Amino acid sequence: MCEFCTKHGDGKVWFKNAANYGKDLMADLERRDYIKDFFTSTIEEGIVTLGRLETLHQKKKRLPPRLVKAMVDKAKEEHFGQVVTIEDIRDMVGKAATVVRLPCACRWAAMKTENRCCYSVSYSPDAWYDDLDMGYFGLAQDEGLERIKPEEAISQMETLEKQGAVHTIWTMMTPFIGAICNCQPGDCLGLRTLALDVETMFRGEQVAMVDEERCNGCGACEEACQFQAISSRQLSGEQVAVVSPAQCFGCGLCRNHCPEEALAMVGR
Ligand code: SF4
Ligand code: SF4
Ligand code: SF4
Repeated sequence: MCEFCTKHGDGKVWFKNAANYGKDLMADLERRDYIKDFFTSTIEEGIVTLGRLETLHQKKKRLPPRLVKAMVDKAKEEHFGQVVTIEDIRDMVGKAATVVRLPCACRWAAMKTENRCCYSVSYSPDAWYDDLDMGYFGLAQDEGLERIKPEEAISQMETLEKQGAVHTIWTMMTPFIGAICNCQPGDCLGLRTLALDVETMFRGEQVAMVDEERCNGCGACEEACQFQAISSRQLSGEQVAVVSPAQCFGCGLCRNHCPEEALAMVGR
């Protein structure tokens, strides 16, 4: 369990605590303002800052530790993420009263392309997400927020996973969980910050484990892992895959690519 579980989990994994999706958190006017300005402020400022940091990182090879700490501390208060598995998604989305799909803000900010792979859920009939400004994408509110059934959202996210997407959840003023995302490394601002060693998201609650008896050393999992967490080693003269638990973000993508069903997700 991570520090958010301790602070916001109420004895559970924090993203399984219904209170973190709850309408009570929306009574906070500061949060409502944050959500209203989320795209034009958080995302637009985020992409400009990220560009500067990538240039600095290219020149110096690492960012000043004090700057990294300040950024991570701020993100933990406002907009922090965690990788989740498809099983977590089924659990979180399956229980929702309402679900919307909307365009991915990172891809829009970076490339002005509309790619509908972000979801928001509400556990009560109130649609808090009407406060999100779809004008940012050049869309009317009802064009941007597409209401769909929970099972439809789950099935779409299963397809996105097959296409290589990593599932993540994001707070909008912690601990309120505002977005359930399906991200690709080059496109996602959060995954891009990881490449600079600025960890604005937690690793998942689970980690991949290899069954060495089944593994045939084909390397398909190593190729599929977006986090370079898999390598190989010799075992009794044969190659077998090895997962580094410290590098594994717990997305579960590797197991989809294993022809021998030699990979399983286990508690971190
Ligand atoms: S976190 Fe992922 S899905 Fe969400 S807006 Fe960014 S790239 Fe898109
Ligand atoms: S080892 Fe598997 S579960 Fe871990 S980050 Fe890589 S693909 Fe995801
Ligand atoms: S994909 Fe499966 S069989 Fe191939 S190396 Fe990875 S764990 Fe082993």
